[in-house]
Amino acid sequence: MNINYIVLARKWRPKTFSEVIGQQHIITTLCNSLALKRLHHAYLFSGTHGIGKTSIARLLAKCFNCETGITATPCAQCNSCREFEQARFVDFIEIDAASRTKVEDTRDLLDNMQYTPTYGRFKVYLIDEVHMLSRQSFNALLKTIEEPPTHVKLLLVTTDSHKLPITVRSRCMHLHLHVLNTKQIHLQLKYILRQEKIEFDDQALYLLARASNGSMRDALSLTDQAIVMGQGSVLYVTVLQMLGILDDEQALALIEALANGQGEQMMLLLDQAALKGVEWETLLIEILRLLHCIAMVQFLPRYLEDHDIKYTDRLHTLARFLPTTDVQLYYQTILMGRKDLSLAPTRRLGVEMTLLRALAFHPKPKIAQPILSSELTSKLELQLNESKSIILEKSYVDSPDNRILIKKDDAKLSNLTDNLPKSTKELLEARTQLLKQTNKKKDKLIINSILPIDLKRLENPCSTIINDSKTKIQINSEQLGSVEDTKVIPNYSLTIPDDEKKFELSKNIVQEVKQRDPWATEIVKLNLPKLIQQLLLNAWKETAENKIILHLRSHKQYLNTENTCQIIQNALRKKTDNQFLECNIIQDDDLTVLTPMELYHMLYEEKLAIARQSIENDTHIQTLRKFFDADLDQNSVRPL
Ligand SMILES: [Zn+2]
Repeated sequence: MNINYIVLARKWRPKTFSEVIGQQHIITTLCNSLALKRLHHAYLFSGTHGIGKTSIARLLAKCFNCETGITATPCAQCNSCREFEQARFVDFIEIDAASRTKVEDTRDLLDNMQYTPTYGRFKVYLIDEVHMLSRQSFNALLKTIEEPPTHVKLLLVTTDSHKLPITVRSRCMHLHLHVLNTKQIHLQLKYILRQEKIEFDDQALYLLARASNGSMRDALSLTDQAIVMGQGSVLYVTVLQMLGILDDEQALALIEALANGQGEQMMLLLDQAALKGVEWETLLIEILRLLHCIAMVQFLPRYLEDHDIKYTDRLHTLARFLPTTDVQLYYQTILMGRKDLSLAPTRRLGVEMTLLRALAFHPKPKIAQPILSSELTSKLELQLNESKSIILEKSYVDSPDNRILIKKDDAKLSNLTDNLPKSTKELLEARTQLLKQTNKKKDKLIINSILPIDLKRLENPCSTIINDSKTKIQINSEQLGSVEDTKVIPNYSLTIPDDEKKFELSKNIVQEVKQRDPWATEIVKLNLPKLIQQLLLNAWKETAENKIILHLRSHKQYLNTENTCQIIQNALRKKTDNQFLECNIIQDDDLTVLTPMELYHMLYEEKLAIARQSIENDTHIQTLRKFFDADLDQNSVRPL
């Protein structure tokens, strides 16, 4: 290789304002002020490293001193311009404040300022990293910054403008440079490599641009490194290796496995990653990036079009399939995991736990259950049930002694929560928040998912099969002529209690329905076939002279068969000593008058709400929630 090789970052430093990437707002300001010859005496350039602050400052100094006159487009021909390019221009003094922080250094500088320029129009002082100067140095400078000799121009450059005294900042023309975006850097890298006649993979450049975090200098340094590694060309594989990142594909596959709740698949992917010698933190960063993409696509469906990102199809699928709250939850979990990575016994372990934690919050965790002997399992279940009932009993005991007891526990537990690491607490809080949001949705979803049960009942209308997640109970429809209606009510009123107490409950509600609506009593007394009883329970009765009109809900119209009216008519006649009654059934979904069935569900809901409220307010349960982040399974609450 040529010994005169100049690194790309230096070689491709902009030589004119038009070559500067981004920063259009600043270039326009400067060009205008140069064209109008309205020059400030002190400029302050701020912004993160490697985005062209010093380059722009140097260009400005060149513009001040071009022999063709003050101009935004220096000639590059005159002595001044050429000396500038060779970094030999005598009246341009570049000072690194980081190495000259003392007040004596500043005094020397100020002494030097009074002499007129040797060759150029202005003496230009560029003070780099100016925030490093000591307080006294700033004070010494202050007067000069406000009113420097007419032949002096001050160019202050800093990455931390907020560290400068406000007195200094207010005396300068402050120009803040923007961080470059990945696309700008990507395009510039492409341009430079084409000019350099170096082969490259486009995706590799994208990765380099992304890894440089908005700094053009970093991007070019990385590119230099990649050229060396790739023996003269920039290859995707070498860049991946160099940056210690996995192929995006693997981070994506991990998210897909997570979304599908496939724990084993996730661990398999981590094994593969380990074999490739992945940098673990980078893996988490990749996952975070992709989650961000997914979240963006969910809000802006065309997001990926503007970003050169691979696997758009798969990302779009994930965006459609994952609930937005899950994406947020995964993001938060992995973010916290990244934060705690340094504390984990090993990095791989940290990553594994983070992903498992995300999986644990998956709506349907598919982590294999530990295999227990059946005896042990039943024992455990027994213990579990006991502890549950103890909690409930305690919460209902009102004696003062017990209250104190509970309060003591409370205090103990809240102490323990305080001791949890902050990040864990934050995570748990975020989770609780998110779950609250998702729960609302869940209720709706469940209604749809249980519809098939309705069909089952059609086959066997005389008894009700209730499909609980654990047990199937058959309730004799004699009770109330079958109680549930899956289309109207959410899941919880369907899962009729599996013990006697709860059986009792339905009875009580039925009793209340009968009290409130005499029509319900009448229906039972008519002794009609069950299907017709069903129909009547789902209709409200309007009585006119010698005529009744049954307002049947539309979703129960299927019960209204050819001679239903006749059967009802006959039964009613029998009841009213053969008084003539005409029966009409009409479809009516107006909910201002409730059918007996609707009344039943309303009462059930009311009792359920009361039960939930009392549990929500229960201090003991609140403590449990706080400590274990136990979220109340709203669907398991039953009224008593
Ligand atoms: Zn010139």
